[in-house]
Amino acid sequence: MKFHDYPVTQDYRISRKVLGVGINGKVVECENRVTNEKFALKVLRDTEKARREVELHALASCHPHIVEVKAVYKNAYNNVDCLLVVMENMKGGELFNRIQERGQKAFTEREAAGIVYEICSAVQHLHRMSIAHRDLKPENLLYATTSNDSPLKLTDFGFAKKTDESEPSGLQTACFTPYYCAPEVLGSEKYDKSCDCWSIGVIMYILLCGYPPFYSQHGQPMSPGMKSKIKSGEYSFPTPEWDCVSEAAKDLIRKMLTINPSERYNIEQTMAHKWICHYKKVPNTPLCTSSVLVDQKEQWSEMQDEMEKTLASMRVGTDNIQIKNLTDSNNKLLAKRRQKKDEDEIIEEDE
Ligand code: ADP
Repeated sequence: MKFHDYPVTQDYRISRKVLGVGINGKVVECENRVTNEKFALKVLRDTEKARREVELHALASCHPHIVEVKAVYKNAYNNVDCLLVVMENMKGGELFNRIQERGQKAFTEREAAGIVYEICSAVQHLHRMSIAHRDLKPENLLYATTSNDSPLKLTDFGFAKKTDESEPSGLQTACFTPYYCAPEVLGSEKYDKSCDCWSIGVIMYILLCGYPPFYSQHGQPMSPGMKSKIKSGEYSFPTPEWDCVSEAAKDLIRKMLTINPSERYNIEQTMAHKWICHYKKVPNTPLCTSSVLVDQKEQWSEMQDEMEKTLASMRVGTDNIQIKNLTDSNNKLLAKRRQKKDEDEIIEEDE
């Protein structure tokens, strides 16, 4: 995709309305000057990492379940080079907010299968293009509109990686993460993609019951016990939430949450599993998900932190640059989180 080098304001009116705040900055609303159509604008500092994000997102964006990139501008503000990414405006909000807001109308296993199918088809598209997303988590799954039949789309390619580009030898260091199958054993291409399949397994689990598979005691921050549970892949399907869930769903979760990435289902195997390929025939059993999500509202941000940390630890070992200690960072969001959680490190070494 060609980056325009004239000001974005020539084509779009930029609004003050903030659509969301992420680790890398704000996403605001903007409006096309000709059509008056509304879009989302993500502003990034022009760094090598940001270029990779924008290029991979644009490359992958022609898919019904990936947020579309409309245009990219390279403009300078106060002598700082920025990339401005104009994307389709996802008016329907985040996946789990919508399920939480359903009220009395129960969310069913068939609906969950339809959602997992949409996520899988986006990931299959990426993996076939040799792109691993590596940051597949609930807040990166957005609905295009507020209508019931709105498509769900994947966004935020901040950690995406091209998996068919060979890295200079010697830089693929041993992986000392919970996912101890070292990338050099499995091949870093498969390793990076396997993170996405683990994420789909976690999201599928939450969709079916409303809480994550690896979870500390209600409301407690990640405890040493929880960390060891993630490392050993220990989870269960507790009563009563899981009693009516089909055996096929549990079978697929077991295959996606397999601790050893070389044995974990890849995206093609997942797409061929009967719970996904026959998603329209999955039983219409009502689930506890909506009410559990409402009850556990307070714990949601803890869950997000936990998933973020686990994904970060999975990425360590295949990235050349390994940031382990962020205590010196000036990032405001990190400072806030640090204060809140009394945590020293975002990405921790395996203890
Ligand atoms: P970061 O990479 O900085 O974490 P994200 O791309 O995840 O940023 O965007 C941050 C937030 O902005 C998202 O969680 C979401 O709420 C909102 N957002 C991102 N993209 C869009 C979009 N296309 N339409 C509407 N809101 C968006």
